[in-house]
Amino acid sequence: MSCDPAPDPVGVVAVLGAGTMGHGIAQVCASAGRDTRLFDIEPEALAGALARISSNLQRGVELGKVEPAARDAALERIRAVSVLDEAVSGVDMVIEAAPERLELKHELLRRAASGITPKAILASNTSSLSITSIADPLPGPERVVGLHFFNPVHIMSLVEVVRGDRTTERVVERSRAFAMDLGKQPIVVRDSPGFASSRLGVALGLEAIRMLQEEVASAEDIDLAMELGYRHPMGPLRLTDLVGLDVRLEIARYLHGELGGDRFRPPELLERMVEEGKLGKKSGEGFYRWD
Ligand code: NAD
Repeated sequence: MSCDPAPDPVGVVAVLGAGTMGHGIAQVCASAGRDTRLFDIEPEALAGALARISSNLQRGVELGKVEPAARDAALERIRAVSVLDEAVSGVDMVIEAAPERLELKHELLRRAASGITPKAILASNTSSLSITSIADPLPGPERVVGLHFFNPVHIMSLVEVVRGDRTTERVVERSRAFAMDLGKQPIVVRDSPGFASSRLGVALGLEAIRMLQEEVASAEDIDLAMELGYRHPMGPLRLTDLVGLDVRLEIARYLHGELGGDRFRPPELLERMVEEGKLGKKSGEGFYRWD
């Protein structure tokens, strides 16, 4: 048995970036009783985020999943802030959900780091960048961790807690406990390309595309093999249609470049379909027709 005391709870949170992910992260933090500051450089993004949070919670009330009093309390705990220093002052954790560009994240986290105490955690919601490379130039790289939420954040239960090369065990443990307090199921992953979720999910999707290319079975039957044989809620080809073939191709190229070998080499069929504009649901056609 470990004699370590329980990790200090995270009470006050700043979410940086109020887009698709940031608004959802702020919502789940506030719903779990955390004082939450939501920061963005765009005033319209902040207004839009508050409106989306309010509508998500209202929908929860209509579905009988959220008490009206809990909706009101969550909304009261969120403060939209347009000055970074004000957003991060006194917080226990910063969760960065800004666009997926390394220099932008460096700049934002460096500024955030100068306004927080040494004990505060700097988390990034990056879906593909290395946590170690995000942490490297920052003061206190040992307190930088990945907290990879999934979209839509208030619905999806998985959170990948990504341990960078210099992240301390205490920071990992505190982040894991925090994710559980949010009602999420955390998994701890070493900082490596694609973490756990993309690496496995994309490997399965690419193999399904290669099987279709080799005429092993139809798209419907390949999907049924996983849905009925392995209880996946959705087959890998239908899922690729929903994610977007272009998005999947980009991730496959990235993982192929980083991990080498043939596992992530994009299948010819995927390259061809993207060239033809068959991007999945968003373009009306992928492995299925979406009229
Ligand atoms: P988004 O474009 O919807 O939102 C980004 C927000 O950041 C925008 O509101 C923008 O105004 C704001 N922003 C831009 N520069 C900023 C700055 N300097 N400081 C503060 N805010 C700034 O993007 P998103 O889809 O929410 O993605 C955010 C992060 O989450 C990315 O790292 C992405 O890889 C990751 N992620 C996305 C998904 C997804 O499904 N969209 C899933 C998991 C992780």
